[in-house]
Amino acid sequence: MNIADSERLESALQGVGYAPAESAADADFIVLNSCSVRASAEERIIGKITDIQRIKQDRPDTKIVLWGCMVGPNNQSIFKAKLPMVDHFVSPSAVDEVVALAPNPVYQLEEPALPVADWTHPPVNVFVPINYGCNMACAYCVIPLRRGKERSRPLDEIGDEVRRIVARGAKEITLLGQIVDSYGHDLPGRPDLADLLKHVHDTPGLVRLRFLTSHPAFMSDKLIETIAQLPRCMPDINLPVQAGDDRMLKLMKRGYTVAKYTRLIERIREVIPHVSLTTDIIVGHPGETREMFDNTVAMLEALRFDKVHIAAYSSRPGTKAAAMEDDPALAVEYGEKQYRRIQLEQVQERIATERNATFLGRTVDVLVDEYTKGKWRGRDPNNKLVFFEHPEDWIGRVAQVKITETRPWWLGGDVVGEAQAAS
Ligand code: SAH
Repeated sequence: MNIADSERLESALQGVGYAPAESAADADFIVLNSCSVRASAEERIIGKITDIQRIKQDRPDTKIVLWGCMVGPNNQSIFKAKLPMVDHFVSPSAVDEVVALAPNPVYQLEEPALPVADWTHPPVNVFVPINYGCNMACAYCVIPLRRGKERSRPLDEIGDEVRRIVARGAKEITLLGQIVDSYGHDLPGRPDLADLLKHVHDTPGLVRLRFLTSHPAFMSDKLIETIAQLPRCMPDINLPVQAGDDRMLKLMKRGYTVAKYTRLIERIREVIPHVSLTTDIIVGHPGETREMFDNTVAMLEALRFDKVHIAAYSSRPGTKAAAMEDDPALAVEYGEKQYRRIQLEQVQERIATERNATFLGRTVDVLVDEYTKGKWRGRDPNNKLVFFEHPEDWIGRVAQVKITETRPWWLGGDVVGEAQAAS
């Protein structure tokens, strides 16, 4: 979501006459887009601001904006005292507010900017936010406090934007939301994510369509069937589970049980052939016992995800989980949290190794987005990273790659042909 916000800002700043500086030291206007999901993300931004402070000593006219989730709707006063070198604080996704602060604009911004600045070479993949904010109240999570209530963008507005982005050369669109599958409940006529996928699927020139991130509570049969029916909608779903123990899920306020989640995974695998499933897990949440953690290990062994984002619990101000830590019997100590994280990573590395090994000898369609260290890099329909060497320029093209090498986090192979671009 932050990448999407930053791309949009970059393009909007271009619209008022700005161009990228060589380095922060040459810039008239510096915007830091911050993340708050874990304390470490905030610490990184504070470090960057401290570096930038030196620039401001040499060039006092340089304007510094702190943007994003660290600011939220009501944190400005806290940060004003702590970060005197910052000139302005702006809430997440409020692109227009940041643009309005840019000193000496050359032009007025007439209409909302596309997320693709002219100085960016035609992008292969573009993120398109479809809903902002989050109405859930997961115990550990600060995002709803920083991004506010859910607001869906109108279906036609998204459709038009996708058309304009694809006309600029983009091949793959990823529809974004904190809870992407709850899209539309606040719009007239209540369109849902399945309706939106159908609405944008036939955009001329669009090769691939994805969406991120889903919540199990909103993953309907209609949505699962729609993904299966739409050929350009990729079989790749990120469905965060967070824990594999019912008592923990209840403490986290996730609203489902392990059995219910498991049935959903089975249903998805039944309806969408060759689907890849990824999930997110938090270890060391307040109240997590060894036994609860062992149940999470058992769930990963049973469900065998393609990829798992594993995070050690990080205390976030204002959340229900942070309040639980006041009880020392509930807090999980640092060493134990790291131990659980590493154990889970090892389990998942083995599962990913085994799953990826089944790709050996298969030919997959790879949409190429980068050339790095002498190799073309792209993604297969399952969103697996694939590398290959070849003399031609493959950027934005779909290579058919026969897999000769498999690793837990990537695949390698040889080009055997080119897939016909979508109509
Ligand atoms: N909306 C998504 C999650 C968005 S945040 C959902 O429904 O789960 C992305 C991931 O960050 C989450 O899935 C979670 O695993 C992790 N995360 C969120 N808050 C966290 C915290 N306080 N400590 C550690 N990880 C956290």
